[in-house]
Amino acid sequence: MRDLTNELVEFIRRTSTDLPRDVEERLKAAVEKEAPGSAARGAMETILKNIEMSRANSTPICQDTGTPIFYVHYPEGWSTRKLRQMIRDAMEIATKKSYMRPNAVDAIYDQNSGNNLGGDDFPYIHFEEVDADQPLTIELMLKGGGCENVGRQYSLPANDLGAGRDLAGVRKVALDAVQKAQGQGCAPGILGIAIGGDRGSSYVKSKEILFGKIGERNADPEIAALEERLTDESNQMGIGPMGFGGQTTVIDTKITGMHRLPASYFVSVSYMCWAYRRRKMTVMGDEVVYD
Ligand code: SF4
Repeated sequence: MRDLTNELVEFIRRTSTDLPRDVEERLKAAVEKEAPGSAARGAMETILKNIEMSRANSTPICQDTGTPIFYVHYPEGWSTRKLRQMIRDAMEIATKKSYMRPNAVDAIYDQNSGNNLGGDDFPYIHFEEVDADQPLTIELMLKGGGCENVGRQYSLPANDLGAGRDLAGVRKVALDAVQKAQGQGCAPGILGIAIGGDRGSSYVKSKEILFGKIGERNADPEIAALEERLTDESNQMGIGPMGFGGQTTVIDTKITGMHRLPASYFVSVSYMCWAYRRRKMTVMGDEVVYD
């Protein structure tokens, strides 16, 4: 089995120090919506300058290099035990090279491991087997802590918000989450919303959907319309980049549905900050392609 440790270090470097093109393009378009000389425009310009400098210098886009979340789609025959070890080794090397900041802290003993490894759960690695003729594909998302803090989960009906168990209720709680986040999630953000599941699976799904590209819409036209509507309505709140006011609070919304028990109706909102770091690495024989 091929050793991919070096390729994984490069993958982590690219993810931590450079934003995907679709995200950068959407942020650039957002600058033009802010009034010249406004605090919002200044914040957006600083964000874009920061992205350019990080790319040029191979330094992290943000000092909060986030929770590393790996999704590994492996063809039959690959050892998940060895893949896990390669990912962990690569994370340690990437931290030594300062592509990642040492941000894994034992929650009980308050000790920083110093290498971004912690127990079996940090980094978080999810494995999914695919057909033997498919390439090995690894996705990585670095989910910032500040934006993670403002994610919310609702159990509908939520009477205090007048939110029932339907899409109108989903809209109400999603807008409540944006309102409560204010600038603390490092706006402009991206909303990942999962409807259904249990508390755990719902939150996981609300992050999984953030692996999709900006502008990718749900296949159901009604859900797709709600995605667009939530982005528009969030931007009418006037919270703006980093909470400075302005036109740009949310740059995209993604919604997915799950099955639920008759007794429960959860809506989980994962808020992703502007540092929307997610990338994909595909291994085809000797060739490795980074998206
Ligand atoms: S929430 Fe995002 S932008 Fe804010 S500090 Fe964390 S990683 Fe950086």
